Parts: sequence; C-alpha cells; structure tokens
Amino acid sequence: MLTPQQIVDAIADLFAGEGADDYLGEDVTQAQHMLQAAALAQADGAPPALVAAALLHDVGHFRGAVHGRELMAGERDNRHSHQGADWLAPWFGPAVTEPVRLHVAAKRYLCATEPAYFARLSPASVHTLSLQGGPMTPAEADRFAAEPYGADAVRLRRWDDDAKDTTVAVPDFGHYRPMLAELAGTP
Ligand code: FE
Repeated sequence: MLTPQQIVDAIADLFAGEGADDYLGEDVTQAQHMLQAAALAQADGAPPALVAAALLHDVGHFRGAVHGRELMAGERDNRHSHQGADWLAPWFGPAVTEPVRLHVAAKRYLCATEPAYFARLSPASVHTLSLQGGPMTPAEADRFAAEPYGADAVRLRRWDDDAKDTTVAVPDFGHYRPMLAELAGTP
C-alpha cells in the first residue's frame, strides 16, 4: 500500500494530468472545479477533513483512480461518488470519505427538500440528476438526514455547485499538500 506521502503524490499527479480534462459538461477543468470547491470550503470555515473532502470529491471521475465515465453519455450513473470514496478509504477516515460518498445523494436530497435548489442547478447537473435517480422520495430524504455525514455532504454539495466559476483564481494543489499528508494515514 502507498504511504501517506505517496498517496498525496499520486493525487497530485491526477490533478496535474487528468485534472486538465473538462469537468463533465462545464466550462472549467476538473482540477479547477475541485480546487474551487476546496477554496469555498476553506472560506466557509470548514474543518480540514471537510476541506479535503471538497478537494477530492470528484476523484472518482479520474480514470487513473477508478474507471467509468459513462455518466454524460447518458447510460447510467457511474457511481463516481462511491468509487471515489472507496478509492480514498485506505488512507483517509470517514470524515473525508463519507461526504465524498454522499455528495451525489445530497443533490437528490436537496432537490427533494428545497424547491429553490433545483432552480439553480446547471443544465449538466439537471441532466445527471435524472441518471442519478431524480429527487429523493420523502422516505429516502428522512434516511439521508439521519446519516452521520449527511449534513457535511450537503455543505460539500453547495460548494460543488458553486465551483464552476471560469474567472476566479484559487490556491493550487500544493496549498493543500501538508493538510492532506496529515490526514492521510489516519483512516
Ligand atoms: Fe463536483
């Protein structure tokens, strides 16, 4: 298994490589999107584990980490949230992995519980919502609200939705290296 330093290096390589691909259907790259989400989390006063979750939330889209990019092809949800969380789990604890795992469910939760939320989704996000199961049923929403990391996932989701700015300048991956190295190895 990779050491904490090696996993941080591996993640840095993914950001520098595949991170240059565009974020599914949006005008920012995958790396810009994830870096913006982390910057929003930090600006919002989130604890380090949740900043890390925001930074890493779409790692499941990286083929170098896990496979599957059928989502925008319209076939089915590629479960990138679960794949990303599972990939991170050997190194990072649940305060990092579970908001990542639940960030797609959080969108379905917010669509079910906040009428105004759906209205501000981007066209690409509306498209993927249908592939992800649509808004939660009331029973599903109750279950989600009771999840230990449900509230963190909702916070992450809002940063995720806002992290599509084509003009903003945010800290690069190196800014988060010490924090990630400290969090890695404590699953
Ligand atoms: Fe995202």
